[in-house]
Amino acid sequence: MQTTGKLHLGNLLGALENWVAMQEQYECYYFAADWHSLASNYEDTRGLEDNLMDLGINWLAAGLDPEKSVLFVQSLIPEHAALHLIFSMITPLPWLERVPSYKEKMEQVNNRDLHTYGFLGYPVLQAADIVLYNAHYVPVGIDQLPHLELTREIVRRFHDIYKCKVFVEPEGKMGEVPKLPGGDGRKMSKSYGNAIYLADSREEMKKKIENIVTDPARIRKSDPGDPEKCIAFSFHKVFSSPGENELTVLECKSAKRGCVSCKKMLADNIFKRIEPVLERRAYWGAKPGEVLDILREGTKRARKVAETTYRQACDAMHFNFLAGA
Ligand code: SF4
Repeated sequence: MQTTGKLHLGNLLGALENWVAMQEQYECYYFAADWHSLASNYEDTRGLEDNLMDLGINWLAAGLDPEKSVLFVQSLIPEHAALHLIFSMITPLPWLERVPSYKEKMEQVNNRDLHTYGFLGYPVLQAADIVLYNAHYVPVGIDQLPHLELTREIVRRFHDIYKCKVFVEPEGKMGEVPKLPGGDGRKMSKSYGNAIYLADSREEMKKKIENIVTDPARIRKSDPGDPEKCIAFSFHKVFSSPGENELTVLECKSAKRGCVSCKKMLADNIFKRIEPVLERRAYWGAKPGEVLDILREGTKRARKVAETTYRQACDAMHFNFLAGA
């Protein structure tokens, strides 16, 4: 998970809830991708430390358990950078240029210059991140699947070139809620400025929920609406019960319900769902020293695994002539 800013509801539902569920079934490694954050935020690095702390607090608030999962910081493990470099040498440029999220961000983000080597090579670093830990499964959102496919292709190319079988080819594990839109209907993203953050005050959250875009054809309360054209209804689908949603469709289409009260009900349901997370957030927010200790300990555990895998990759390349010297 990147450290580019505060975590938002999309991260919680699309990623963290899935991560928490996975730790009951698998040996999991989760990391703060602070090097990845530089890919799109290389100019302003002052907030990185605060963001890292916020990330750790939110992970614990969401229910990640350091006894079950290894929680670590990417930039404290140099093998990520080293393997990324090796993968960069063997990855054909067109593989990267065709990644949909690359094209999408180049089109949509216009407040930063993303014509950098690091931004294009982002999925190559991601491939290194994944295979260093012999990951069989990677919890991903739907938009990350092409990145995972690219990882598999890079692994196959490495094995093919160096006639070896060092890495595991990972598979994607989709959560139950792969995509929560932002309030404006685009993907909820820090880059687009349309996110509801866990660090927002309740008042800020309520305001953002009130401002979620509704069916644009519904100008007056007496106009019948179409929930399928309403972003607030996309939120209802995630946070409200099937029975509530049936009633919303009926009352919206017959103009019996106004958008203000519809979004008020949505806000209540959102708070109901995230209340335990907000409570744990307050608890861990008061213990920054313990959060750092948890990340330090996790990083030590992760590095042992990364070092072993990296050494195996170097062996396969006959690139270890000074090893042990
Ligand atoms: S009543 Fe609800 S579903 Fe219908 S347009 Fe308004 S906010 Fe959307």
